[in-house]
Amino acid sequence: MGFFTRMAMAFSRFMVGRNGMDNMAFHALWGSVIVSILSIFLPIPGIISTALLVYAVFRMLSRNVAKRRDENQRYIEFTEKLTREVKQFFLRLKGMKTHKYFRCPSCRNRLRMKRGSGEKLITCPVCRNQFTQKA
Ligand SMILES: [Zn+2]
Repeated sequence: MGFFTRMAMAFSRFMVGRNGMDNMAFHALWGSVIVSILSIFLPIPGIISTALLVYAVFRMLSRNVAKRRDENQRYIEFTEKLTREVKQFFLRLKGMKTHKYFRCPSCRNRLRMKRGSGEKLITCPVCRNQFTQKA
């Protein structure tokens, strides 16, 4: 058996029962790389890059897999929500000239109506609340 094969086997034995790479560890690792590159040009304290790297390694080596999986799941949900919000923000920015965006006063659901259509009675499609809105 070659040296590298033995090393790979030893490493996979070492990683048994550990969390390994997940989204949070992956992002912390890349965050560490990006922050350390940025710190060449910007006055960013080196501890941030180091802390991200330490956190990524901690996640990968952690034996409390259930807790790490739970944290990762919440992290995925959070990033998906953030991505959705950012996408919707840019869609609203694009449609601002033709539509007026507003929220339902009762359930805070986002709604839109064509600009120049005057004052109208709106029925929220989510909560059926009725209110007048001018656009
Ligand atoms: Zn509503």
